[in-house]
Amino acid sequence: MKAGHPTEAVTMAGRPARPGWQPDIDTARCTGCGWCVAACDRHLLSLEVVNWKKYSTLGAADLCTGCSDCAVKCPFHAISMRRS
Ligand code: SF4
Ligand code: SF4
Repeated sequence: MKAGHPTEAVTMAGRPARPGWQPDIDTARCTGCGWCVAACDRHLLSLEVVNWKKYSTLGAADLCTGCSDCAVKCPFHAISMRRS
């Protein structure tokens, strides 16, 4: 196990980067609570309003490390990680 190796990209929350993986946000489950937005240390998630419903969206997807911090924080299990 290489977790914590100095050459490995590690997020502030400690979960290692997983290149090629990104959050897939289920807008039907998302309540717009914003926990995932706060969890992303790269500030890649933001809340959008469409038809008076607020939900989280991924902005610069190419900057996502695939760390899954956002998915772990979501209290409504609205985020699953998928290969991009
Ligand atoms: S997986 Fe989530 S928390 Fe991690 S960098 Fe990507 S959007 Fe941010
Ligand atoms: S934490 Fe989950 S429910 Fe809350 S805004 Fe993010 S995806 Fe939506």
